[in-house]
Amino acid sequence: MLYDVIIVGGGPAGLTAALYTARGGLKTLVLEMGLPGGQAALTDKIENYPGFPEGIGGPELMQNFADQARRFGAEIKMERVERVALKEQVKVITTSQGDYRCRAVILAPGARPKPLGVPGEEAFRGRGVSYCATCDGAFFRDKKIAVVGGGDSAVEEALFLTRFGREVAIIHRRDQLRAIKVLQDRARDNPKISFRWNTVVTEICGEQKVEKLKLKDVKTGETREENFDGVFIFIGLEPNTDFLSGEVTLDPAGYIVTNPSLGTSAAGVFAAGDARVKELRQVSTAVGDGALAAMGVERYLAELEVGG
Ligand code: NAP
Repeated sequence: MLYDVIIVGGGPAGLTAALYTARGGLKTLVLEMGLPGGQAALTDKIENYPGFPEGIGGPELMQNFADQARRFGAEIKMERVERVALKEQVKVITTSQGDYRCRAVILAPGARPKPLGVPGEEAFRGRGVSYCATCDGAFFRDKKIAVVGGGDSAVEEALFLTRFGREVAIIHRRDQLRAIKVLQDRARDNPKISFRWNTVVTEICGEQKVEKLKLKDVKTGETREENFDGVFIFIGLEPNTDFLSGEVTLDPAGYIVTNPSLGTSAAGVFAAGDARVKELRQVSTAVGDGALAAMGVERYLAELEVGG
């Protein structure tokens, strides 16, 4: 079986691309390593995706994306892509289940939370260390929770965690948040949220599970310990591009380099969503990327046919 297009990644970018290519009559396969929806499906509520004035649950929105792509005939398989061969006209995508062949590819593998890289982080992963508030928040009912980071994710997730924890402390390495103002205001107004400014975590400690954090004041160099039952880490993202190893050009941080039409360095290979070099990583921008990449594929395949 030769697919017209294989889309690597079933988040907002990949599912939008699939909707467009399938609706355009192309035989489309989406390969997703987890459940369809990507990071957006792990978000409790999405408030800045237009069309839903009251906001919409991430899982519900992403289920709708997947249903809509399937309705036009896109096939979605839950398989992790292990490697790809993209430089020939027929491209090969290898998953744990075998090889798939196609004429064009859209890379939409998304990004994952960046680890802090301190002692204790790996050992206590799943035992008090988490990267997903919607997944693990309910385990911390009436507990004291630390959130590391100062961006939109950290502040948004800290607000979500106040539903469960008795106290949520945002630990940030500067004295100013990076998050947008509306989130900052909500956090400052929330009586359960406190801040540890100019502070970094140097170690996560405990016996069977997280019990305390070693903290360092970056201004004075002073160190101290504070008890916490859990720590949620939101210090940014890193792209899921390890499987690409040399097949397309990446920037030094591992993000896929694209031209204005979202083409990559390999002919017939396009990229969309959080894994590419871009200014703003949101569901709304991922959707735009998906549509544009799909148009790129349609044009590329039409030109191939003209060229014979
Ligand atoms: P981000 O915007 O890159 O922010 C990362 C935060 O972590 C920054 O405050 C940074 O500090 C801090 N940080 C980075 N490395 C650190 C380290 N080693 N130790 C301690 N702190 C560290 O990442 P994000 O918040 O995950 O957001 C990622 C993207 O998704 C952004 O484009 C964001 O706008 C978007 N997003 C949007 C929404 C929304 O629209 N509602 C929600 C979530 C995410 P500095 O400030 O000092 O650099």
